[in-house]
Amino acid sequence: MMHAISYWKIVLEIVILWYVVYMVFLFVKGTRAWQLMKGLVVIGVIFFITQQLGLDAINWVLTRLVPISILSLVIIFQPEIRRGLTQLGQFGKHQASVELIEEIAGAAANLSRRKTGALMVVEREVGLKSYIESGTPVDAKVTNYLLTSVFMPQSPLHDGAVIIERGRLIAAGCVLPLTEDEKASPKAYGMRHRAAIGISEETDAVCIVVSEETGAVSVAHAGKLTHGLDEEALIKTLKNLFYSSPKKNASFMFFKNRKKK
Ligand code: ATP
Ligand code: MG
Repeated sequence: MMHAISYWKIVLEIVILWYVVYMVFLFVKGTRAWQLMKGLVVIGVIFFITQQLGLDAINWVLTRLVPISILSLVIIFQPEIRRGLTQLGQFGKHQASVELIEEIAGAAANLSRRKTGALMVVEREVGLKSYIESGTPVDAKVTNYLLTSVFMPQSPLHDGAVIIERGRLIAAGCVLPLTEDEKASPKAYGMRHRAAIGISEETDAVCIVVSEETGAVSVAHAGKLTHGLDEEALIKTLKNLFYSSPKKNASFMFFKNRKKK
C-alpha cells in the first residue's frame, strides 16, 4: 500500500514538472529570452565537458559565475518575469465585451481611413495607474465616435495614448514607456509604435496603434506587434486575445509573427 502511494507521488511530480517546463517553454519561445535559453544550454554543455575532462580551473570559474548570472537574469528579464507572474492568475478572465471590441475596431478603421495617428491601451489584469496619471483624466463610455474625436489632430487630447479600463476611456494624452527591443529599433518603428510595444512588454495590456504615416492598424500584445490589420482582422485578433486562455494567446501571437518574417 505504501509503495503504491509513493509511486503515485513520483508520477504526479513528473507530470507537474513537465507541465511547468512546457509552460515556461511556450512563454519564452520567440521572445528575447529564447536566445538566452540557447546560450544557457551551451554553457551547460561546456560545464559538463570540463567536468568530465577534469578541467578544474574552467569548471571552477563557471561555478562562480552561476550566482551572478542568476541575479543578472532577474534584473534583465524583470518585465518578462512580471508579465509571466501576472498571467498565472489570469485564466478565464477577460475585460473587453464584444461591443467594446467593435467600437474600438470601428474607430481604428475610421482613423486609418483619415490617416490620423492613434494609440489605445486596453487594460487587463495589471493596473496602469502610473500611466493614467501621466495623462488627462476623461472617464467616458468608449464609443467609436469618442475615440475618433479624441485623436483628431485639432483635439487638445490627441497627443499620446488613451487608456481604456472596463469599457471606459479613463484618460487621454498618456505617456507610455518605449520598448528597448533592438528589433523595434528607432529605424524600424517610430515613437508611437515603440510606445505600443513598450507598454505591452511592461504589462499585460493590449495596445492598438493607427499609423499617421500609412494609416496601417497594428496590435501590440506581450511585446509583439502584429501589423497591417483591417477592421475584420482587428476584431478577430482582439477577440482571440480577450476570449482565449493566456497560453493560447502567446502561441497565437507567436505563429502570427512567424509567418510575417
Ligand atoms: P506613425 O506611423 O503614426 O508616424 P510612428 O511610430 O512613426 O507612428 P511617430 O511618428 O514618432 O511614431 O509618432 C509620434 C507620436 O506618437 C507623437 O505625436 C505622440 O502622439 C505619440 N507618442 C510618441 N511617444 C509616445 C509615448 N512615449 N507615449 C505615448 N505616445 C507617444
Ligand atoms: Mg512617424
